[in-house]
Amino acid sequence: METIEIGTSGIIASRIALGTWAIGGWMWGGSTDIGESVHTIRSAIARGITLIDTAPVYGFGRSESIVGMALSGGLRERAVIATKGGLEWRDGKIWRNSSPARIRKEVEESLRRLGTDYIDLYQVHWPDPLVPIHETAATLAALLKEGKIRAIGVSNYSAAQMAQFRQAAPIHSVQPPYNLFEREAEVDVLPYAAQHDIAVLCYGALCRGLLAGTITAATRFKGDDLRRKDPKFQEPRFSQYLAAVAALDRYARERYGLTVLALAVRWVLGQGNTIALWGARRPAQLDPVNDALGWKLDDEAKRRIDQILLQIVKDPIGPEFMAPPQRGDAGALPASLAA
Ligand code: NAP
Repeated sequence: METIEIGTSGIIASRIALGTWAIGGWMWGGSTDIGESVHTIRSAIARGITLIDTAPVYGFGRSESIVGMALSGGLRERAVIATKGGLEWRDGKIWRNSSPARIRKEVEESLRRLGTDYIDLYQVHWPDPLVPIHETAATLAALLKEGKIRAIGVSNYSAAQMAQFRQAAPIHSVQPPYNLFEREAEVDVLPYAAQHDIAVLCYGALCRGLLAGTITAATRFKGDDLRRKDPKFQEPRFSQYLAAVAALDRYARERYGLTVLALAVRWVLGQGNTIALWGARRPAQLDPVNDALGWKLDDEAKRRIDQILLQIVKDPIGPEFMAPPQRGDAGALPASLAA
């Protein structure tokens, strides 16, 4: 496994991290089996994946509880637990809330569910326009001092928001959406992170499964699966993205003897101090992990990839549909539409 320090925290983590949103059984088409989920997390650790990313909102506590279960019995010390705070839910709706009181309450609940007395990396899930950033930052700085958390992260923050935050607390990591198809973070988040020694946890490294290469035009998503609303999965875009995946897969096989999945993860790992978040809920999904490790894409490959995307994806779109509303927003989305 390749490893990296999370900013200047002194914490060393694997560069591939396990994403446990689907394990929470919310917005990924229904409830997951607890035994299989526990097995997936333990299988990740056995493969050298030490960073486990979760959040209270992933199944409203369920993902965190399953992570706690999986790490009980001696694995806690081997894992770097990354969880989040700053989203609130009631009656099936979620809102942003990064107030000091909310963060304090969430940290205690996360510690209880995770069965631990410290969180390695605590991340503000989404910026909250109703709470001054320095108040949220000061709360995290206090939690760091108290030893309840070992490092501070933000997620879905812009560079300007990070700059404000850093006036009251250090930032060790940022978590933006970032993958071959979703590159908005290149505008200011990645450069800011590089400049200030901040690790980048890239979420959606497989673009919600598209870049795993197994989704076809015949794939149907069930129940509350977010891809039923994701604009990338609706025509006419869906066909364009599938055609791009097929072309990237052909290129990966010809040039490296690997699949598009390995190419996509390796591409993320080649973009600086990055960590690729890989969402999995079955142990076998992690079988290709080693294919993404120990090699580099050269400039020619990067150019070819960009050419393929430019030629095929005529109408690109980002992951903005996932942004949760602020409190009191008349348009507040039901939980099944926001994450
Ligand atoms: P992702 O990692 O881009 O993709 C997950 C999808 O990939 C799932 O559909 C899964 O299939 C599929 N997959 C995984 N391994 C596969 C394999 N070997 N073969 C075929 N398909 C495979 O999606 P993500 O969950 O959106 O992102 C990863 C993590 O990032 C999340 O779990 C979460 O921890 C974090 N995240 C954070 C935020 C935030 O706001 N901070 C937002 C989104 C995600 P199945 O559907 O069959 O399981």
